[in-house]
Amino acid sequence: MDLSYDVFVNDPPPQDGFLPNGEPKRFSPMASTLIYGREDAVLTDPGMTKDQARVLGDWVAARGRNLTDIFITHGHGDHWFAAGLLAERFGARVVASAGTIAQMQGSVASRPLLWDKLYQGIPPSPVTAVTVPDNRFVLEGHDLVIVEVGHADASDNTVLHIPDLGLVIAGDVIYNGVHMYLGQSAVGGFGPWRDAIGKVEALGPRHIVCGHQDSRLDDDAKRTIEHTRHYLDDADELLRIENTAVGYFNAKIERYPDYLGQLILWVTARALYGVREHPGEDVGRIVLSSWL
Ligand SMILES: [Zn+2]
Repeated sequence: MDLSYDVFVNDPPPQDGFLPNGEPKRFSPMASTLIYGREDAVLTDPGMTKDQARVLGDWVAARGRNLTDIFITHGHGDHWFAAGLLAERFGARVVASAGTIAQMQGSVASRPLLWDKLYQGIPPSPVTAVTVPDNRFVLEGHDLVIVEVGHADASDNTVLHIPDLGLVIAGDVIYNGVHMYLGQSAVGGFGPWRDAIGKVEALGPRHIVCGHQDSRLDDDAKRTIEHTRHYLDDADELLRIENTAVGYFNAKIERYPDYLGQLILWVTARALYGVREHPGEDVGRIVLSSWL
């Protein structure tokens, strides 16, 4: 039987505080994908909190498939801290690349400094993910291929390519109607990210599910790739002409009035301008403090 897929976009967890334009701080919506055949299914990026895991788990259960694997695209905790709960509920294996598994360990280490300071209800998150031979696993005879694309919003990003669906689950390499997290490109610029986009494009997908997407938009691969590239070009331009983080934040909103995730835009602006304004200081600490 042919595969199908369905996408669930979660609600961000509650958060305190406001942005410079008076809007409440709110994390970006994150998308999980269920790829399924007649009996079995694979889930991607299951989210962060217990509440998100319960709602997503009920959505998965309603599809009536046997969940064999949960795939994680990259190490950032918003994509996987809830993986253990879902794995336990459905008896599924957690799968990721070796590079992502190393980044997941880093996210666990940063929990008390970052994630647990901002969000309530993140469950225990031991790293139980395993690699698969040749970065490849199978769903009812169809290949699911883990493609390592290098640095994008994090180090060692991967995407999941399902050739028989013309589909790429792009994690945070491609975005769709949501502000992009550029904080970890503060040193070295967006060249590696542009290379990663090129690697996704080379797979020739028709559809792309983005880790952060506006659920009102379609999943056309050509459009999402184009918009992601354009967002990086705009960021480069604004970094040249805007002198402050607030200036950058306001100018981006002016250019992207409908984009979701202004919290991430503000964190990004603080990181990019923080690194620029404090040469020689510890970059990791500046990027971390831009969240707090
Ligand atoms: Zn993310």
